[in-house]
Amino acid sequence: MLKTDLKKVNKLLIKRFGVPERNSQLPDPLSMLLGTILSQNTNDKNSFRAYKNLINRFPDWKMILSVKIPEIEKEIRVAGLGNQKARAIKRVVTYLSRSRGEVNLDYLREKENGEIINELTSLDGVGLKTASCVLLFSLERNICPVDTHVHRTLNRVGLVKTSTPDKTFTAINLNLPDGTGHQIHTNLIKLGRTYCKPQKPACKKCPLVKICKYELKTDIEANPTGNDFLLLDQI
Ligand code: SF4
Repeated sequence: MLKTDLKKVNKLLIKRFGVPERNSQLPDPLSMLLGTILSQNTNDKNSFRAYKNLINRFPDWKMILSVKIPEIEKEIRVAGLGNQKARAIKRVVTYLSRSRGEVNLDYLREKENGEIINELTSLDGVGLKTASCVLLFSLERNICPVDTHVHRTLNRVGLVKTSTPDKTFTAINLNLPDGTGHQIHTNLIKLGRTYCKPQKPACKKCPLVKICKYELKTDIEANPTGNDFLLLDQI
C-alpha cells in the first residue's frame, strides 16, 4: 500500500518538477560524508561554498590530519557552526587513518546498506540522514534520505504518521519502489521549499493537492523563490 502510494506521489512530482538530474560523476563516499556534515543546519549555497573552500585548501583529505581545528574552521566558517563541524571532520579523518590506515571510505562499496548505516552512524556527529545521503549520492543505492522537508511533506500528505525524520526514514525505505530514491528525495525537497512550506503551505496549485490528507490546506498560491540549488548533487 505504502509502496503504491509512494509510486503515485513520485509520478505526480515528476509531472510537475521533472526527473531530477544526477551528477554525471558521483563523488567518493568520504567527500560526500564531509559535504553532508557541512550541510547540517545551513542552506545549500553556504555549505557548497564551505565545501569548495575545504577541498581547495585540502585537495587530499589526508592533509587534514596534520592541521589544527582552527585551520579547518577558517575554511568552512561560511557554513556556520564552524568549530563543531571542523571537529567532526577532523574526527572522521583521524578515525579512518588510525583504524584503517587510509583516509577514505571506499571499503563501504562492498557492504550492504544496513551495515554501512551502522558503521557511519557509529561515528560521532553522523546521524541517519547523513549516512543515507552517502548511500544515495555516492554509492547510488536506492534509498531516500529524510530531512525536515521530506518528513513534513510525507506526514501532511498522509503517507506516514511519524514523529521524527528517522522514523519516517524507516517507514518509507522499507517500501521504496525500485529506482525512485533520488527522485522522491529531491522532488519532495523541491515541494517542501516551494509549496509545502513549514508555516503556510501553498496548497492551491500543489501537485499533490488531490491526494493530500492535510486538514489545514490553504488556498495560497506558491511564489517560487528560484531556490532550487541542491548541494549534494553538486559535490
Ligand atoms: S496540498 Fe498543501 S499540505 Fe498537502 S502537500 Fe501540497 S502544499 Fe503540502
